[in-house]
Amino acid sequence: MSGTLTLVPTPIGNLSDISPRCRQALEQADFIAAEDTRVTLRLLNHLELKKPLVSYYEHNKEFSGRKIVERILAGENCAQVSDAGTPAISDPGEDLVRLCAENGIPVTSIPGPCAAITALSMSALPTGRFCFEGFLSTNKKQRRAHLESLTAETRTMIFYEAPHKLTDTLEDLLETFGPERSISLCRELTKLHEEVLRLNLKEAVAYYKENAPRGEYVLVLAGGAAEEKQADLPTALERMQTLMAQGLSRKDAAKQVSKETGIPKNTLYDAGLGG
Ligand code: SAM
Repeated sequence: MSGTLTLVPTPIGNLSDISPRCRQALEQADFIAAEDTRVTLRLLNHLELKKPLVSYYEHNKEFSGRKIVERILAGENCAQVSDAGTPAISDPGEDLVRLCAENGIPVTSIPGPCAAITALSMSALPTGRFCFEGFLSTNKKQRRAHLESLTAETRTMIFYEAPHKLTDTLEDLLETFGPERSISLCRELTKLHEEVLRLNLKEAVAYYKENAPRGEYVLVLAGGAAEEKQADLPTALERMQTLMAQGLSRKDAAKQVSKETGIPKNTLYDAGLGG
């Protein structure tokens, strides 16, 4: 009979966040698949546990994934951990889960620390409907395309971000969603210097011109208020007419007014054709 794959979340900063159930899962596993064995070894030392570790990360996941599946099919139980937080969420794990499922291996996941959910819950933005957008690409064109695809998004959006990319990302967010859009910048969650700044995008850009970004960030961005924006459509179309009278093409005017109002540019372009 095959063993099981158990996804085990680990602390995102505060070691006390390891739950008794996670500890037990690590203790009971025959071996642990770890993103970085050195990081996991420190955690195991803290928990005073000794377990065989195998490395499973982005650049060895195909080979290592096959080996792990062979061992589980032969009856061993595997616990999977990433460096911090919930495996498979912007971390290695997604492919291993799929591979196990394809091979009929039972997969279970223990609830626990996840930076995205921790940030969302304290963002003070609507939590009823949200979407997780992970990391934006480092490639400017791809990053822009990703953001453009979200201009009509009405749900709260969650992004992961590294400190050295934060200022560029905020500039891009400002350009795409306009100055008034609310953002909660959640930093160093569960750590000594945990901080949440609840600002609009104009204020956020200004703040980080004066203060260097430090630590790990989750950005929680308010969705567009669709109904409110639709009510503003006649005003937006007037603004488009003004820009076109100044020489902008219909397409560029729609793009500009979309940035200013948050109304999707295709809506403006199509409505503008009737005007
Ligand atoms: N799987 C992890 C989870 O469940 O949260 C996410 C891993 S992803 C590779 C790492 C990113 O998560 C960081 O770049 C940062 O955006 C976010 N993150 C992780 N820990 C954080 C913390 N303590 N405070 C704020 N953001 C954090």
